[in-house]
Amino acid sequence: MKTAVVIVAAGRGSRAAAAAGVPKQYAHIGGVAVLTHTIRAFASHPRVDLVQVVIHPDDLTAYGQAWPMPRSPDAPGSKVLPAVTGGTTRQASGLKGLAALAAHNAASVMIHDAARPFVDPGTIDRVLDALVHASGAIPGLQVADTLKRVGDAGLISGTVDRTNLWRAQTPQAFRFADIWPAHQRAAAAGLRDFTDDAALAEWAGLGVTIVEGQEGNRKITTPEDLAMADRAIRECTSAQLHTPDVRTGTGFDVHRFAPGDHVWLGGLRIPHSAKLEGHSDADVALHALTDAILGAIGDGDIGQHFPPSDIKWKGAASRLFLEDAVRRVKARNGHIGNVDLTILCEAPRIGPHREAIRAVIAEILGIEVDRVGVKATTTEGLGFTGRREGIAAMASATVLLG
Ligand code: MG
Repeated sequence: MKTAVVIVAAGRGSRAAAAAGVPKQYAHIGGVAVLTHTIRAFASHPRVDLVQVVIHPDDLTAYGQAWPMPRSPDAPGSKVLPAVTGGTTRQASGLKGLAALAAHNAASVMIHDAARPFVDPGTIDRVLDALVHASGAIPGLQVADTLKRVGDAGLISGTVDRTNLWRAQTPQAFRFADIWPAHQRAAAAGLRDFTDDAALAEWAGLGVTIVEGQEGNRKITTPEDLAMADRAIRECTSAQLHTPDVRTGTGFDVHRFAPGDHVWLGGLRIPHSAKLEGHSDADVALHALTDAILGAIGDGDIGQHFPPSDIKWKGAASRLFLEDAVRRVKARNGHIGNVDLTILCEAPRIGPHREAIRAVIAEILGIEVDRVGVKATTTEGLGFTGRREGIAAMASATVLLG
C-alpha cells in the first residue's frame, strides 16, 4: 500500500502572477520554479511513493521546463507521475488528481498547494503519522495575533476570541479510501468551492485532526512573498557554500636533457652531467606543479600565461610561474590545501634533495612543509626517462576556495 501526494498547481494566481508575468508556481525562486522546489520536497521524502501534479492546460510547456520527465522509469524522480490537467476550481483540480491516483493502490494521500515550496519533512511525517488515528490530518499553527472584526466603514466592530483558532496549512493527509469517495460525492452534489480538502472532509463527516505545522511552510501569494522566498533560498545556498569549496588539479610536464652541468628541479639547483633544455630554466617539477594549481582553479595552463614565444621568459626562474599561480589562487579568495609531486627519472637521484625541495616549494606556496609531498621514481629503464633522454614530472594540488 502506497503513500501518494497530489500537488495542486492548476491555479492562475492573481497578485503574484501579475508581477512575475507567469503563474506564481512557475516563477523562479533561487533559480528554479516554485513548483520544482515543491515537487522535490515530496519526491525526496522516503515515505512518499507517488507524486501526482495537477496543472493548468495552458502550462504544459512551463511544466515541462519545471519538471522534465526522466527518460527511464527507474531514474531518480520517477515517483513523479505524468502531470494531469486540472479543473476550474481548486476542488475540481484536487478531484482530478485523486482520480489519476485511483488505479495506483494508494492507502494514504496528501493534497498540497504548489505555492508552498518550503514544506519540511517533519510536517509530512506528522500528518502521515496522524492517519493511524484519524481519517484526515492537516498541519496548522495556532493563531498568535489578536483578531479584529472590521465593519463596512473600516471601523472595528469586535475582537474575535482566538482560543482554539488555527491557521490551516498543507499538505492535508487522508486515507485514500475516505477522501476519494468524499470528493466524488461533493462534486455530484454540485459543491465545487471548498477552499481546502479538510473543509470538504468535514462536510463529508470525516474525522480530521490537526498537527503542528511549520511557520516556514508559507504560502506564496504576493510578489513580496516571491521576493522573500527568493532571498531565503539564496541565503541558504550561500550558507552551504561556506562549507569548503575544495578543488583538485593535476599537472604533467617533460623536458629533455642537453649538454650541461646542472638541472633545476623543484626550485633547487642540482649538479648533474646534463642540463634540462627549455625556454625557461626548464624546472619540470615546478612546471607540473604550476599546472596542477592552475588546473584546480580552472585557469588555463602555464603555456597560456607564459608563452615560450615571449622573449621575456627566456631563462626565467620557474618559481615566477608558480608564484603567479599562487597569486591567481589568492585573487579568488582561495588557499592551497596541499600539493603532491612525483619526479620520474633515472638520475639525478632525488632522495638526497627531497627535504630541500619540499622546503623551497612550501616557501613559494606559503604553506607548511607537511602539505608538500615530493616523491621520485625511476621507470625501470623503460621509455624516454629510462633511456635518460629527459625527466618527467606529475603533480596534483588541492585548492580551497572561500
Ligand atoms: Mg615545461
